Amino acid sequence: MSFLFAPAALPVLPVDGETNLYFPIHRIYGVARNYAAVNATLGEKTPPSIFLKPADAAVYAASDNTLELEFPCATDDLQHEIELVVAIGKAGRNIPVEEAMNYVWGYAAGLDLTRRDLQRANSAKGQPWDTAKAFDESAPMTAVKPACRTPDNEPMNIWLYVNNEKRQEGTTAEMIMPVPEIISYLSTLYELKPGDLIMTGTPAGIGTIHPGDVLEGGVQGVGVLKIKFKGV
Ligand code: MN
Repeated sequence: MSFLFAPAALPVLPVDGETNLYFPIHRIYGVARNYAAVNATLGEKTPPSIFLKPADAAVYAASDNTLELEFPCATDDLQHEIELVVAIGKAGRNIPVEEAMNYVWGYAAGLDLTRRDLQRANSAKGQPWDTAKAFDESAPMTAVKPACRTPDNEPMNIWLYVNNEKRQEGTTAEMIMPVPEIISYLSTLYELKPGDLIMTGTPAGIGTIHPGDVLEGGVQGVGVLKIKFKGV
């Protein structure tokens, strides 16, 4: 088989604690409005909704290094959403809630970067969220940590600092749709595949990012990321 041009590199995240072992990314699903406090901030009272980001929106942010990113184009209101990311390791359709955790291979911490101005405009016109959610480098993430090395059945703290000021704080216990229900629900809409990543929603404190800002956030027991947006 030959290709017309070089195929794009397979999007991957490293496996935490391993050398030269990678989690190959299939798709990135997102759950919106999954924390009540954020629903209130956005004036929403709708149940959690699903969107996708392309697999190559993921960009690896190492815990021991500051990742420098270009400030995204086409927005005057880039916003941060720090989230628990669930990494799927097994294919499944119509997965019962009680079996859902068997499909989890591991976890990461991720930022669901959002062009909020475009999201508002798209929502007002009844248009899809793609330009708001699915842009280049819109999903910085830590390495994937195997589930067997993360705390089991305990709420995880989630936090984000911007320029050393705390902006976001919450726990996974505040999710409207908890992880097993998300997996079960998604599997009624799509066949889940190994390599799928699910961004599970963000706690209170979402806000605007400016060029030059430094973000540090994470999920307890899972990972920490540090990002600096280049100035203008
Ligand atoms: Mn989000």
